[in-house]
Amino acid sequence: MNREKEFKNQLLKWSKDNTRKYSWRNTKDPWKIYLIEIIAQQTQLDRADQYYKKFIKKFPNPIDMSKSTKREILEMWSGLGYNSRAVRMFESSKILAKRSFDTIYPHFEILPGVGPYTKDALLSFAYDEKVITKDTNVLRIFTRFFGVENPEKFILKNEKNILKNVHSRKFNQALMDFGAKVCTSQKPLCNECVLESNCQKFIQYKKQTQQAFKGSDREIRGKIIKYLISNENVEISTLNKTLEIEGSKIKPIIKKLANEGMVNIKNKKLIEISS
Ligand code: SF4
Repeated sequence: MNREKEFKNQLLKWSKDNTRKYSWRNTKDPWKIYLIEIIAQQTQLDRADQYYKKFIKKFPNPIDMSKSTKREILEMWSGLGYNSRAVRMFESSKILAKRSFDTIYPHFEILPGVGPYTKDALLSFAYDEKVITKDTNVLRIFTRFFGVENPEKFILKNEKNILKNVHSRKFNQALMDFGAKVCTSQKPLCNECVLESNCQKFIQYKKQTQQAFKGSDREIRGKIIKYLISNENVEISTLNKTLEIEGSKIKPIIKKLANEGMVNIKNKKLIEISS
């Protein structure tokens, strides 16, 4: 199985038990998707959800919003910050009151506030197009897992292949949830990650820690104890030769082990595991 396919399958399998439930997640209504995408910019999702519910109840379609006033929109938006988002949303509603999403498809960028990410979100969630929504969380996952420097370019090249036989909304939601719960920007949970065995970042990290461990005091201590478990009265020089450890390194480690009560040194030469 190629890596893209493995990535997709593992991610979708993981998402079965880890999907975050939000009221807009099953909708295909582009207006609802547009609203949540604008509200969720720079806003934490749980908080965005509360505002989304309030807006969609009052303005179930763009025509209703277009009949409102900027003042009313800003009042409802109060507490979310970045008021320009509310203004752009209101301006978009006026355009959409005259021209529906279907008539401007796929050029959603003509709406104020719609950048490449929001456009992709509309194409995927409302129109089931084979596009991967490329927000910072998604780009981070691709950078880490595939070890690529330019995740956007990589996604554009591979998205049709990755999304073959799968609804893009399902995959994009899985990616978002995975980025929020596992492959987080700080302290990703690599040890609990279903993608860990094929993830380039994790493989690289393991190599680096193995290299750091090689020849370290910790490794030498482990080797000595392991040898002494199956051998008694061992001379230090035997340890040097058998375990191929430099004399200058081994003596202070043995002294430390003795101080910790792990080994006994007899006649300044023979050592064994202390009883
Ligand atoms: S192993 Fe770590 S870095 Fe790689 S995808 Fe999983 S959480 Fe992200």
